[in-house]
Amino acid sequence: MDDTIFDEETEEELLCYVEQDEEREVDRLAQEFNEALQSDISAGFAESELEHGALIVTFEGRTFILPRVTGNENSIPFRVLTEGGTGLAANSLSFEHVVGIIHRHPPSDLSTLSARIGDDAFNRGPSTGDLATAETISQLGGGQNVATYIISPDGDLLEYEGYVQPSWARESYSDDEIKELIEAATEANLLDAMGDCIL
Ligand SMILES: [Zn+2]
Repeated sequence: MDDTIFDEETEEELLCYVEQDEEREVDRLAQEFNEALQSDISAGFAESELEHGALIVTFEGRTFILPRVTGNENSIPFRVLTEGGTGLAANSLSFEHVVGIIHRHPPSDLSTLSARIGDDAFNRGPSTGDLATAETISQLGGGQNVATYIISPDGDLLEYEGYVQPSWARESYSDDEIKELIEAATEANLLDAMGDCIL
């Protein structure tokens, strides 16, 4: 007699849904951030060529997102993101309250179309610097559950889990290999940001 209640695949699905349930509010805030940002970019209230981001925090049982900050074309300086005018300190918060980091990668400004397509594909994922930022925030008290959300140059919201993933980013792959891995990961990351699982 087979007393296994769930096969391995079903158990994996259940674990995914448990995790999505815990993340629901963080996902919702990330989606709202993206919607507001896209509409501000369309209306000319936010610069399309710059990076924009925010921290998502939990404090006394409430989850909320700090005001949006703007960086330069390539990054948002760590101090601007964490300790700028609207950062953690200004809100009497510290790193242990951080549960998510969201930022947008602007469209490529490289000179040829093929280079722009490649650059934009690469920018669907976190950069080495993004992973270092997530890792630093985790080490400073954010723990293992800091969600990294990337808004792609064409406005998709993708979620990359914690600083320990994607593990490929910690090894020395070529840019082409990383692009392939990002493309393979895209569907799961899109669904993850929407609180859904691949079934
Ligand atoms: Zn980035």
